[in-house]
Amino acid sequence: MDLKITVLGSGTSSGVPTIGCSCAVCHSADPRDTRLRPSILIDAGGRNIVIDTTPDFRAQVLRAGIHRLDAIVYTHGHADHILGLDDVRPFNYHQGERIPIYVSRATLTVIERVFAYVFERRESKTHVPQLDVHLIDENPFDVFGLRFETIPLTHGKDTIYGFRFGNVAYLTDHSEIPESSLDRLHGLDVLFLDALRHRPHPTHSTVERSIETAQRLQPKRTYFTHMCHDLGHAATEASLPPGIFLAYDGLEISVPNSAVASHSAE
Ligand SMILES: [Zn+2]
Ligand SMILES: [Zn+2]
Ligand SMILES: [Zn+2]
Repeated sequence: MDLKITVLGSGTSSGVPTIGCSCAVCHSADPRDTRLRPSILIDAGGRNIVIDTTPDFRAQVLRAGIHRLDAIVYTHGHADHILGLDDVRPFNYHQGERIPIYVSRATLTVIERVFAYVFERRESKTHVPQLDVHLIDENPFDVFGLRFETIPLTHGKDTIYGFRFGNVAYLTDHSEIPESSLDRLHGLDVLFLDALRHRPHPTHSTVERSIETAQRLQPKRTYFTHMCHDLGHAATEASLPPGIFLAYDGLEISVPNSAVASHSAE
């Protein structure tokens, strides 16, 4: 069975269209120019794993027709990556079980502060998310048989996590990828990269920088994500080198499961 990835959101923290903006991309008729906040769904042999719970999580789940959630893996604790966590409650209810979350100590600290009510000891907890916390660090971890490698990324002054699973890597929010992380990104079928816009930004990669990263790592296919309204889909994608594309909300990618098995067996 293939590993199936669905892009739930390909936009930057404010989403596209951006509130109050009158630019051409924010008013584009191309559905690929509507970008919810950044997240992907991984269907690993019938197990649904999401990376991050954005402020658009509920809308993303409904739009993608996700009926069951098996786990959440977090990249970091910024608002655009965690604020939808409260909407896991229907999954708790329908599945009658807690949802495992895989999270670094630093990200958990943020989640515990922002969602303090989830972690309070109370008699009745029926109206708050029911979570099983699994702390992750720089060692690989398994989620329902799918092995994740954490890929440390420099995001401004912070270090956050990207992930490699099988021959796919999801590297959102980063200004730089440390050499020791680049060393672990060879032989990829699919590489997702932060590409906020053309102009430099202190905490995010640009289109130009991510083209360089893709050309260095030579994955079979590269998809840019976490994009702002500077980047119209059609015009920007037409300007990219072969093998590099813009992700868009609803994009589905299948990767042979053999790639997962061969990699995780190494
Ligand atoms: Zn972000
Ligand atoms: Zn705009
Ligand atoms: Zn961030």
